[in-house]
Amino acid sequence: MSTPAASSSVAETPVAALDAALRSAAPHQVIAAALQAIGRERLAVVSSFGTESAALLKVTADVDPAIPVIFLDTGHMFAETLAYRDRLIEILGLQDVRSMKPDAAALAREDADNELWFSDPDACCRIRKVEPLARALAPFAAWINGRKRFQGGLRAAIPVVEQDGARIKFNPFANVTREDIAAIYRSANLPQHPLVASGFRSIGCMPCTSRSDSAEDDRAGRWRGRGKTECGIHTVTTSSV
Ligand code: SF4
Repeated sequence: MSTPAASSSVAETPVAALDAALRSAAPHQVIAAALQAIGRERLAVVSSFGTESAALLKVTADVDPAIPVIFLDTGHMFAETLAYRDRLIEILGLQDVRSMKPDAAALAREDADNELWFSDPDACCRIRKVEPLARALAPFAAWINGRKRFQGGLRAAIPVVEQDGARIKFNPFANVTREDIAAIYRSANLPQHPLVASGFRSIGCMPCTSRSDSAEDDRAGRWRGRGKTECGIHTVTTSSV
């Protein structure tokens, strides 16, 4: 892997130069480069502790288990996801996992009956995911996430490094395949999310997650029938919230 400085040109922004340098890099190289470029105090990983999350978390822990990991505990999570979070923290030795909850006043004001997910899922995602993530990322200059191009939809063309408002966003798994992820799980003997065995292929909040079959996209079970495919944390600039 070439260093970002070696492949940058005068016409490129720092983010474009990083993306060019890391375009073909392996996930651990991307995370190591992010750590070197940003520093641990200003870099965070965001994880849903979902079906493929252990792969990103394993690679992160191998680079530096003290990199902060942000988990959005929306109040609608499956109990299995919370248990999986705790199990992965222990197995991988993650040292700084921060579970972020929605603002209590916003919940009382906008979702007192806990049914906003049904009446207005975008508003629900805003107060339970987008705003808490913006708060969690306030101390950080860059963040790492686990999106893959093979997930399709808006994710099919993501770069490895991109601008997110005032922050930099690293997508170290942009290039990986399902087989690559399975290989990480096998070689590290990582446990599957407990709900994978019962047919869940992409797992978010309980009211908005359903099973999907192999003929569908991985994320077809999310917000099924609602015309919604993303919660907003990747489509709204985090520093603009
Ligand atoms: S995924 Fe569903 S329950 Fe979770 S925050 Fe979004 S709308 Fe609300």
